[in-house]
Amino acid sequence: MSSELVLVIEDEEDILAMVHYNLAKAGFAVESVMSGEEGLERATELLPDLVLLDLMLPGVDGLEVCRRLKENSRTAEIPIIMLTAKGEEEDIVRGLEMGADDYLPKPFSTKVLMARAKAVLRRRQKKADESESLAIGELLIHPGRNEVLAQGERVELTFTEFKVLHLLASRPGWVFTRYQIVNEVRGEDYAVTDRAVDVQIVGLRKKLGQCGSYIETVRGVGYRFRDLV
Ligand code: CA
Repeated sequence: MSSELVLVIEDEEDILAMVHYNLAKAGFAVESVMSGEEGLERATELLPDLVLLDLMLPGVDGLEVCRRLKENSRTAEIPIIMLTAKGEEEDIVRGLEMGADDYLPKPFSTKVLMARAKAVLRRRQKKADESESLAIGELLIHPGRNEVLAQGERVELTFTEFKVLHLLASRPGWVFTRYQIVNEVRGEDYAVTDRAVDVQIVGLRKKLGQCGSYIETVRGVGYRFRDLV
């Protein structure tokens, strides 16, 4: 069984109890706190393997906790999954841009919680080699050769399209905001704006044919490559 430590920062008792119970049942060591202040203190002290962070907390709120954890070199590498409520899309975007790994909209099922927690921990373990070929579903990406095969057929992509696809596909299941995508491709092409990202995605989906459905739109947040594992 895993003995990875998960720190849960959540002020709603019902959710905290449910999350704590299920993580413990799955073999995780769990530490629960109900405020941002305590969360920061415990995270720095225990250096957990994963933090589950409610955004709407009294006092120091979740975004501030996220910012401070990512600023501190001791805690910067700890993955964070935000627990979010309806209407918090802007905060989700800000959290992701600060370096949070993922988010879970409430209400979430135990099954989804466990899947996401495991996915984040798994991704942390294997940091993909940038030049390594990626085979995902019926898509094959060769970064060294700037070559993409969809269902065995070669696809002609622009340099920018290739970079966007490679970024998304390098972390399946991971949501990238438009800003993060722009940041990644900036300098290679001029005038890459939020809208330009949408245009690149439309072009990519079209060229990839059936594999185009691997790129999912996450409304109000950005884009994600389907986790086909
Ligand atoms: Ca809350």
